Amino acid sequence: MIVLEQVTKRYDGGHEALRGVSLHIEKGEMVFITGHSGAGKSTLLRLITRIDVATNGQVRVNGQMLNRMRKGQIPFYRREIGMVFQNHQLLMDRTVFENVAMPLRVAGCTTQDIQRRVRAALDKVGLLKREKYYPMMLSGGEQQRVGIARAVVNKPTILLADEPTGNLDPLLSRDVMNLFAEFNRVGTTVVIASHDLGLIARMPYRVITLREGQLVKSSALESVRHGA
Ligand code: ADP
Ligand code: ADP
Repeated sequence: MIVLEQVTKRYDGGHEALRGVSLHIEKGEMVFITGHSGAGKSTLLRLITRIDVATNGQVRVNGQMLNRMRKGQIPFYRREIGMVFQNHQLLMDRTVFENVAMPLRVAGCTTQDIQRRVRAALDKVGLLKREKYYPMMLSGGEQQRVGIARAVVNKPTILLADEPTGNLDPLLSRDVMNLFAEFNRVGTTVVIASHDLGLIARMPYRVITLREGQLVKSSALESVRHGA
């Protein structure tokens, strides 16, 4: 479902953020992308969302060759993907309901459809009672859950997250990861970039490690898991 073949991404100025990366992420899988700051995690996610384009190699998502995708197709392609950010990027002057409704309004859904879907998404993240609140009135963990509701409201086949627990304490971080696991359990493919190794090691998912833009074969995490 997500396939990278010998992908290199070189930014203007010549820096190679990714070098010869090949990987497959299956439909319905949940994986972590880890590695130090600057390893290329965000670049990898930006290639999958088609914000960036590979310099060399192929990126294929849901059977579509992203390198060859025409500009006009990109907005439709992005509806297949939900994106969660570290700082959640909520609109502070809109209610929780309106923040979550945003992707549906962009997609031109009917008012009735929006009501039903936003409530379903808020219910899934446990925030149905907060729909009339403004983000400022919520805790950091709740704000991140609003960001997750917004990412899944379109029922994307793929959910991507870039350091989704970066601003949260360990307890809230675990809650947020468990929420991703729940969406994965009902069939969504989930890809999470995170350097929270302690948290990742306790979860039973594949870990892809990047180091200076390259895939690391056997992850250092295996030794963390096995207590070495
Ligand atoms: P990570 O998410 O693992 O911290 P990034 O993918 O953000 O890593 O960055 C990988 C490398 O690419 C870093 O060295 C970073 O400085 C560089 N980089 C990221 N974005 C750009 C850009 N727009 N232009 C130039 N270099 C970039
Ligand atoms: P539909 O009428 O499209 O089948 P449902 O009534 O089954 O919709 O579900 C409504 C809502 O479920 C979606 O609009 C969305 O908010 C939420 N949802 C989001 N992501 C998922 C997911 N991965 N699996 C199940 N439900 C999801």
